[in-house]
Amino acid sequence: MAKTLLSPSPAIDEPLELDPGQDPFAPQSIQYLVSRYGSPLFIIDAERVRRQYRRLAAALPGVDLHYALKPLPHSAVINTLRAEGAFFDLATNGEVELVRRLKVPAERCIHTHPIKRDSDIRTALAYGVDRFVIDNPDELRKFVKYRNRSSLLIRVSFSSPEARCDLSRKFGCEPEVVPGLFKLAADLRIKIDGLSFHVGSQAAGPAMFAEAIARCTDLMRVAAQLGHAPGILDIGGGFPVDYLQRSMPIEEFCAPIRAALKELPSTMRVIAEPGRYISAPAAISVASVMGRALRGGRWWYYLDEGLYGSYSGQVYDHATYPVEALVPAGKTYPSVLAGPTCDSIDVINEHLELPKLDVGDLVIGRQMGAYSWASASEFNFFPRATVLALDGGRRLTDGSGR
Ligand SMILES: *Cc1c(COP(=O)(O)O)cnc(C)c1O
Repeated sequence: MAKTLLSPSPAIDEPLELDPGQDPFAPQSIQYLVSRYGSPLFIIDAERVRRQYRRLAAALPGVDLHYALKPLPHSAVINTLRAEGAFFDLATNGEVELVRRLKVPAERCIHTHPIKRDSDIRTALAYGVDRFVIDNPDELRKFVKYRNRSSLLIRVSFSSPEARCDLSRKFGCEPEVVPGLFKLAADLRIKIDGLSFHVGSQAAGPAMFAEAIARCTDLMRVAAQLGHAPGILDIGGGFPVDYLQRSMPIEEFCAPIRAALKELPSTMRVIAEPGRYISAPAAISVASVMGRALRGGRWWYYLDEGLYGSYSGQVYDHATYPVEALVPAGKTYPSVLAGPTCDSIDVINEHLELPKLDVGDLVIGRQMGAYSWASASEFNFFPRATVLALDGGRRLTDGSGR
């Protein structure tokens, strides 16, 4: 692989922020970075992005990993993965615009939103992204006029009620209607390249993956009888990470998936769309105490980050992040961490035991790279956290100051 061709130009003009071997998530690094950049801070570590990508790639040999931008659509993550040889999964015009700005080759991208406006299709096609996802006849018909320059995957729904975010309720068709869609596509002379599914985010176990792969293997056979030559199976995202609760190690998680994939014809290209697994461990949130009050026997600490900011994932993603205060160990008290806004829902955790904190003390949230900063708002005009991306001690920027 000609790595240098894929790599963006290195940010050689950026001075070293930390020693190259220093972990940016270590307490001394965090203290130093806050002294330089202030709080709240959202720190992305490119080395951890790389580590996650390589670990998943090793657990799924032969599977082309398309990073789903949605959980952390940041240039540092995209540039780092692109240098690793990754592919990308886009769903919106904003995401197309981001990869365009970073000059990611369109051939490395697919567009996977099952419901699109004509203008969304045209925006993706204009950049050269020509593989899309559909899950119903009306969406299929939208491609009649683009049939000479696009190809499609049919998204099938296999729901895992135990996944933290079940994505099969809103999108995907029942396996039973797939042959009908293949037939309609043949009548409309639209090319169907294969099938896709998403078992749900933060999947509890690999069983649904294996079941969905087996079911898709059967559906591909039916498609071949209907005159199609589907060559792609897209097994989606959903690969889990550790939060307060540990998840299965990814090697173990992927073993039954690898076994199920062995039943596919060897010519089949298999792709996956990991989001959370790549980005979640690669970023931390750093907040500081703005003020405190003793209420009902508990210390309430008001931070400059909360549920309307980087901790938004506690609402939308149903996540509970490991949090810790960057202070010396000592006697602890029942404590509450609250966000800065005037809304009473804006409480991060009410049941903590923490040493007594002072104004300015730092609170770290870990495993916060996915569905956190990405869904933060500026409610009450508290600005979103400053994002700082580091790679080997050096700050990564994309040339536009971001
Ligand atoms: C959100 C999403 C992903 C990423 O899912 P994770 O659970 O974060 O891995 C992949 N594909 C599609 C279509 C998505 O909507």
